[in-house]
Parts: sequence; C-alpha cells; structure tokens
Amino acid sequence: MSAKAIRIGQMTRREFRERMQGGELKACIIPIAAIEQHLEHLAMEHDWRSVTTVSERIANSLTPSVIVAEAIMVGVSEHHMTHAGTLTLRPGTFIAVLNDLIRSVIHAGFTNILVLNGHGGNIQPCEAIWDQFVREFQVNLQFISYWDVLTEEDATLLKSGQRLPDDLPGHAQEFETAFALSQFPENVRDEAMRDQQDASPLEATAAQGDEFLERIVNRLCGYLQEMIDGERVAEIPPFHP
Ligand SMILES: [Zn+2]
Repeated sequence: MSAKAIRIGQMTRREFRERMQGGELKACIIPIAAIEQHLEHLAMEHDWRSVTTVSERIANSLTPSVIVAEAIMVGVSEHHMTHAGTLTLRPGTFIAVLNDLIRSVIHAGFTNILVLNGHGGNIQPCEAIWDQFVREFQVNLQFISYWDVLTEEDATLLKSGQRLPDDLPGHAQEFETAFALSQFPENVRDEAMRDQQDASPLEATAAQGDEFLERIVNRLCGYLQEMIDGERVAEIPPFHP
C-alpha cells in the first residue's frame, strides 16, 4: 500500500500496531450520523455520507497523524419516523454504542478523540452526557458538529435566505443540497426537488458545496491540529470531594 490508510478498517492489525507504537497516530475521529428522510429529493444516507466525507478529507490533510474510526451510521431520528425508511437508535442505545466505540479507540491508545457529528438530532443526547463521558474516560475527548465552524460571514454563499449559523445544517435545505451536489450528485433527484413544496433546495449549486466543504475542512483541520498540539484540551470535570 503506497498512500497511508485514513480509516482504521483499511489497515491490518500489524499496520495499525506499527503506526500506533511508532507514535505516528496522534488523533482519531469518530463520525456520527443518521440514515433518515431528507425531503423528497435527497437520499436518506446524506448525514452519514457528508460527515464521512468531511472526516476523510481531514484525515487526508493531516495524514499520517489522524485516522478515522468507522462511523456510527444511524443516529437519533425518532422525530423523523413518520417518514418510512428512516432508521433510528433510541437515545440510550445510541449513547451506549458511542460510549463503547470511544472505549475501543482509547483501548487502542488514542488520547485525542474528536466525535464529529453530522446530524442535528444527535446533538442533545451528546451534550447531555458529555461531561460524564469526559470524566469517565479522562482523555481529550471533544464533540463538534461539522457545520459549527461556519459563521455569519459564510452566509453570503447562500441565496435562499438560510441564516448562518442559526439555520445550520437545515434539513435537506440549500446547504445540505449544495454539499450533495458537490460530493455525491447521484444522491440528488432533480425532478423530485422541483415537485416538492419546499423551494429552498433549488438554490443549491455544486460550486457552493465545494466552497463550504473547503472552508469546513480547513477550519476543522485547525481544530484537530490544536488538539494534537495540546492547545485545545477537554476540561475534565472534577469528582466531588
Ligand atoms: Zn441532514
């Protein structure tokens, strides 16, 4: 293999061992996502596809020090279950699976771990227990949604009036549709997009998606580099005396 693997699952156990023991691997990204309805025009895998794309782009940019753990594809999507085809984990199950995955990468030797989120419904369950996770694991464990690095100034890229950062990611709206047009256009159904009531996705272009992705990846690379350099450290909540 010439290029270095960017996902854990691509490596053999020997390759992983050598990179970890040699001190090459410095941080791990765990992407978390959802498989859920995205209006009539976007494939249901959108959140998983997008957060995986962002994660792999970061790992590529920061290779060989960053590796991506396999994503949790399904998230907390109870609020979308009226649309058949949506898959969901109950919040307790989701948190239990995430806890086990974090435990596994710590066992592998990582102390810098970024849980990178691609689905709005996962935010509340994660925020509610994050302090407890950090206290339990005692490592530099961070949580961020990939769109959190966008700011009001980035809103000039949008035409539909979707406000940044308040309306992000916006369910299957202009932002998410632009991302898909840029990275996996086969997931966007043009005819269905024109048929449905919601017109905001029609403003999306692949060029917007390219630009958003570029900005997101650059900023998250900075975020992760700060973690690796010890400049961004999770504050471990104290135990009661
Ligand atoms: Zn989405």
